[in-house]
Amino acid sequence: MATNQVEPDDASTLPPPAESFDQLDLSEVMLDSLAAAEYHTPSPVQAGIIPHAIKGIDVLGQARTGTGKTAAFAIPILELYGQPAKGPKPRSLVLVPTRELAVQVCDEISKLAKGRKTKCIAVYGGKPIRAQISQLERGSDIVVGTPGRVIDHLSRGTLILDELKCVVLDEADRMLDIGFRPDIEKILRRCPRKRQTLLLSATVAPGVERLAKQYMTNPEVMDFSPSSKTVDTIEQHYFTVEEDRKFDLLLRLLEREKPEQAIIFCRTKRGTDRNHRKLSRKLKGVDCIHGDMAQSARDRVMRDFRGGKVRILVATDVVGRGIDVTNISHIINYDLPQSSDDYVHRVGRTGRMGREGIAFSFVTPEQGDELTRIEMLINTLLNRAEIEGFQTVAQVAPPQADSSDDEETPKKPLPPGKRAPRRHRRGL
Ligand code: AMP
Repeated sequence: MATNQVEPDDASTLPPPAESFDQLDLSEVMLDSLAAAEYHTPSPVQAGIIPHAIKGIDVLGQARTGTGKTAAFAIPILELYGQPAKGPKPRSLVLVPTRELAVQVCDEISKLAKGRKTKCIAVYGGKPIRAQISQLERGSDIVVGTPGRVIDHLSRGTLILDELKCVVLDEADRMLDIGFRPDIEKILRRCPRKRQTLLLSATVAPGVERLAKQYMTNPEVMDFSPSSKTVDTIEQHYFTVEEDRKFDLLLRLLEREKPEQAIIFCRTKRGTDRNHRKLSRKLKGVDCIHGDMAQSARDRVMRDFRGGKVRILVATDVVGRGIDVTNISHIINYDLPQSSDDYVHRVGRTGRMGREGIAFSFVTPEQGDELTRIEMLINTLLNRAEIEGFQTVAQVAPPQADSSDDEETPKKPLPPGKRAPRRHRRGL
């Protein structure tokens, strides 16, 4: 598979990217819906993918969320297969890793389908299956779903794929990461052989490449990954702060920054609930989201966040990835993520579509190594931040740093032979 590295300022042998949607050979109805959505200029991912995908060929695009990748596949599938079907069987299927993404992608497709009778429905777990079955029975042109729920409908016979013309695998790397490979393969084997396959993935790890080799036909491979791991428009800072000073720091930081919208990432569900409770007592427009909440509650919170009713969202990583809300001005890592990769995903929730964003990470003195690992991954040193007059670390270590508020991370004695983690001095 040959790869075209597509960088916005890469004057390679590729034709210059389209500067307006008019240059992409789109129908009037499509151009009208793009104007209604206020999309005036194609993003680089759209300018790159649309001309190929609209020919009906397979495309593998390496692109992360926030680059306009949804419209990059939605526009070709609407143009090619958007005419309302005669029967109830869908002509396009989009597989996504999470429930939130299923709703988001279906909303984006429906927005771009303005002026057509095309019906898009989302099928995902955590919601009663009956309502989805009756929606499917009434007919749909495009189905967006999580692999588990799609399999469920296939085995009940409520979703039939034999009229399918196109399959989209969105965030393929994420779907493989969370163990959806067998389900994806099962679904792809149920699709007609003669079809178009579009695959979007933030990274093309060997697993994704294998999937592409097995289930795609001579795909056009296009790489839109930025050369650095995080976006240039995001300012990244860190505070050195003792665990028991984090909440006060958070309050002071929110007071100083007055974010338009912010996500506060915590490591655990309990920590998320606790910080949500404490913050709601002090501020308006605060809500929280994590994997233990009922799907209906998660949907409502995401709706309120997108609509701007919720200004500050306290969240775990479960919902961190893929969330696309353009007005997120601030990301606050109240706890550092479990893996450095998750740092990139969290921070990528801001700075969307070229807007500016700012990220703050709270780093305890014991987490020097974790900070270094993140900095190595993104190849950037985070700037040390301070709040005037606010002491983030005790001058003399207290006898027992207060961890009583954090039931899930009790301080364990170190196993014999293990050294205490490096206390980081930068910023102390
Ligand atoms: P995505 O990467 O698909 O999650 O898209 C990121 C955000 O950009 C979404 O809020 C889209 O509605 C928005 N968007 C997509 N394409 C365009 C465009 N050409 N112009 C302006 N906004 C866009």
